[in-house]
Amino acid sequence: MTEKYDVVVVGAGAAGMMSAIEAGKRGRKVLLVDHAKKIGEKIRISGGGRCNFTNLHTHPSKFITKNPKFVISALKQYTQNNFIDLIKKHNIKFHEKKLGQLFCDESAQQIIDMLLLECQTANVILKKDTTINDIYKEDDKYSIVIGVNKYFCESLIIATGGLSIPKIGATKFGYDIAQKFNLKVVETLPALVPLTFSEKILVICKELTGLSVEAVVSFKNVFFEEGMLFTHRGLSGPSILQISSYWKLGDNIKVNLSPKIDVDKFINDKKISNPKQDINIIISEILPKRLAQIICNENNVSGNICELSNKVLFTLSNSINAWFINPTGTEGYRTAEVTLGGIDTEEISSKTMMSKKHAGLFFIGEVVDVTGHLGGYNFQWAWSSGFVAGQYA
Ligand SMILES: Cc1cc2nc3c(=O)[nH]c(=O)nc-3n(C[C@H](O)[C@H](O)[C@H](O)COP(=O)(O)OP(=O)(O)OC[C@H]3O[C@@H](n4cnc5c(N)ncnc54)[C@H](O)[C@@H]3O)c2cc1C
Repeated sequence: MTEKYDVVVVGAGAAGMMSAIEAGKRGRKVLLVDHAKKIGEKIRISGGGRCNFTNLHTHPSKFITKNPKFVISALKQYTQNNFIDLIKKHNIKFHEKKLGQLFCDESAQQIIDMLLLECQTANVILKKDTTINDIYKEDDKYSIVIGVNKYFCESLIIATGGLSIPKIGATKFGYDIAQKFNLKVVETLPALVPLTFSEKILVICKELTGLSVEAVVSFKNVFFEEGMLFTHRGLSGPSILQISSYWKLGDNIKVNLSPKIDVDKFINDKKISNPKQDINIIISEILPKRLAQIICNENNVSGNICELSNKVLFTLSNSINAWFINPTGTEGYRTAEVTLGGIDTEEISSKTMMSKKHAGLFFIGEVVDVTGHLGGYNFQWAWSSGFVAGQYA
């Protein structure tokens, strides 16, 4: 059997559904194909089940890509406010958690239901649990082979996402298609992912498992001030996830465990005002007790502050305000929220998301070399790039 469509979208995630809806609204005959049995699994598990669907402060500076200007057009064509309007149209209640991050009051499933309803209204034909065997170009048309059937289309949109969380359906399909069509792919790496450490640091992390502190975590000139969590596998929490997208293997990250306080000054003031005070108790005034204890132990300091040399105290305060640690790696795609790298933005028009070499071939969402910071930016990229492709496919 052969069938003709105007548009075929591969991948019914956030970006794919958005593009199918928009193309369908323009009267295009759209087929949306996904290999998963359940649609929108990443949306369902996102934001702890409440989906952090966008960020009020969406701005090109919140995205990592080889060409930072690439995201400007799509983010302008479909803004966070456009998506908020869609949410409001469907009466989905939401709230700002912090830092402009918008979450559903009830459940991420509401976003999936909204997108599926919009697909239905736009007459999008959805095929789930469907394996694509081959894709090729024939006389300016794209041919999609599914079992013994062939589907021809003018426009083919690849929205198969990144590599993170393979157990819910992530594949390298999009990168393989890019390579088949001779398009460059920027090296992919897990991002927004917990960092792992060698035994010395791991012992500390294990002892402090479950403890969260507000910290500034930095790598070179990039820094994030958010929560940092000690886990039995290493370090996690928003500030660590954020820096993981920048950190390079072999390099140190710097952690300031007490960003609001100049610890050296604090300790020296204490030495003058209260010389008989125990150093452990002094450090416990600025850090959680368990952490204070471990830092004192690691620095081999104990007893009254007046008995400790300024040099020893300086080293101690540095280990709080400027703790340099060397991650040995990340937890990988198993737990990463996103994939760094992807289809090289040089290959794609930023205005349309269409391949510059192959008319009618589009790439959108996470499969492209665009990675947002934590906080709803990755979904906003999926909505914006999906919207744009939907206008031109
Ligand atoms: C645990 C977790 C929490 C997250 N929380 C947030 C959050 O709160 N806010 C935020 O902005 N971002 C969040 N993200 C990131 C966000 O989910 C992604 O950036 C976003 O889903 C990317 O959208 P996409 O449509 O490009 O890809 P996806 O949503 O991954 O969709 C890709 C689709 O393609 C399908 N597919 C893959 N391979 C094939 C194939 N070979 N054939 C057919 N179909 C295929 C998949 O089944 C999937 O349905 C989170 C990610 C994770 C893993």
